[in-house]
Amino acid sequence: MEDIQKRRARQLKLYWKNPEKMRAIARKSYHKNSKRSIKYSEKYYKSHKIHANTQMRSRYKLLKLVALIMYGGFPPMCKYCATENDLVIDHRDNKGHLDKDRFGWNAFLIRIIHERDFEKYQVLCRPCNTMKAKISASKRLKKIKIMEELRCQKKM
Ligand SMILES: [Zn+2]
Repeated sequence: MEDIQKRRARQLKLYWKNPEKMRAIARKSYHKNSKRSIKYSEKYYKSHKIHANTQMRSRYKLLKLVALIMYGGFPPMCKYCATENDLVIDHRDNKGHLDKDRFGWNAFLIRIIHERDFEKYQVLCRPCNTMKAKISASKRLKKIKIMEELRCQKKM
């Protein structure tokens, strides 16, 4: 048991030294053994279904709490309206959709906890986050309209 934990810690250390390279290696070996590893994970998931789910969920809760306190203070609160309920991690540059596609939620939380990039992320409540996304979308639309108008004028 202890050996496994030690090995994991060592692997994690190695990973954060050069994440891009380690990710590439993992991807390569995954494709190489993908059939076998999928079979194994299916088998594991079936036999440990409840356990795996609760483990993942509790890990997610803990990671989210750490991230919220890190980026939102203690107790964590929304940066806009200071509520303490229904908080989410917000991408200040509105590019969250790119992150979600590339990483699982747990991996995302681990990454932002390691990054400590307060310029990039902040804590908002869900309503404020939705409002911010809508405003930025309408701004983007306005920009596109202006660009199109300019293009039309050039043609004329
Ligand atoms: Zn709010």
